[in-house]
Amino acid sequence: MIAAMEPLYEGKAKRLWATNDPDVLRMEFKNDATAFNGEKKASFDDKGRLNNAISTRIYQLLESEGVPTHLVRRIDDTSAEVRKVEILPVEVIVRNFAAGSFCRRTGMAEGTPFSRSVIEFSYKNDELGDPLINEDYIREMKLASEAELSHLRARALEVNGILTRLFDECGLRLVDFKLEFGRLATDPSRIVLADEISPDGCRLWDKKTGEKMDKDRFRRDLGGVMEAYREVLDRISDLLD
Ligand code: ADP
Ligand code: UDP
Repeated sequence: MIAAMEPLYEGKAKRLWATNDPDVLRMEFKNDATAFNGEKKASFDDKGRLNNAISTRIYQLLESEGVPTHLVRRIDDTSAEVRKVEILPVEVIVRNFAAGSFCRRTGMAEGTPFSRSVIEFSYKNDELGDPLINEDYIREMKLASEAELSHLRARALEVNGILTRLFDECGLRLVDFKLEFGRLATDPSRIVLADEISPDGCRLWDKKTGEKMDKDRFRRDLGGVMEAYREVLDRISDLLD
C-alpha cells in the first residue's frame, strides 16, 4: 500500500496521519515549538523524540493505573499510534501552585501553593486565544454534557494524583498542566485522555534548585530547553524502566 503523503492534520507541535485502521491515527511529534498562541516560534533538534518518549511513558503509567487513554503504542522515535477520538474543545488545566496566567490574572506570587488543586477550563479555539471559560459556559456552548464534565473533573484530579507522585519521585514539582480528552471514534460514549503529556504542556520545577524544566525555558528565553526536556525523560526512565 502507498503511504499517505499528506497528514490529515498539521498542528503547531504534531501531525496526525491516517493508518490502515480507520480508527487508529499515527501521531507524529514535530521539533517545532510555539508559545503565546503561536506568536513565538522556534525549532529544537530532538524535541519530537523527547516528547514522544516522555508522553508514551506517562500514558503507559496512567493506563496501568486504570486511566483510559488514546495510546496504542509508540511506533518509532517521533511517532505513536493512538485511537482516533473526537476531541472535546475544552482544555482542562490543573494547578497545584500559582504560575503563568493564574498569576497574571490574580497578582498572586509565582509558586504560592494551593490548599486544594485548582481546575480550570479553556475553550480550545486558536482564533479566540483559548479563553478561560467555566462550567456554565461549557453547558451553554454545548461543548460537553454534564456527565462528561463531571467525568473530566474526576479524571483530571486522578491524573494529577498519579503525576504528582511520579514527578515527586523524580525530584520534580508538578506545578500545573493541561489535559485534552476525546470521545472514542469507535464508541463516542467513552471518553479517553488524548493528545500528549510532556514538558510542552506541564510546568515542572526541580525540587532542590527550583529550576524550570519545561516550556517556560523557551517562553522566557532561559536557554537549555532541550537539556531540561532530556533531564525529565532521563529521570522518568530511571524510575519507570
Ligand atoms: P494544535 O492543534 O493546538 O496546534 P498539536 O500540534 O499538538 O496542537 O496538534 C495535535 C492535534 O491533534 C490537537 O488539535 C489535538 O487536539 C488533536 N488530537 C490529539 N489526540 C488526538 C486523537 N487521539 N484523535 C484525534 N485528534 C487528536
Ligand atoms: N497549557 C498548554 N496549552 C495551552 C495553555 C496552557 O499546554 O494552550 C499548559 C501550560 O504549559 C501550563 C498550564 O497549561 O503548564 C497552565 O498554563 P497557563 O494558563 O498558566 O498559561 P500560560 O502562562 O502558559 O499562558
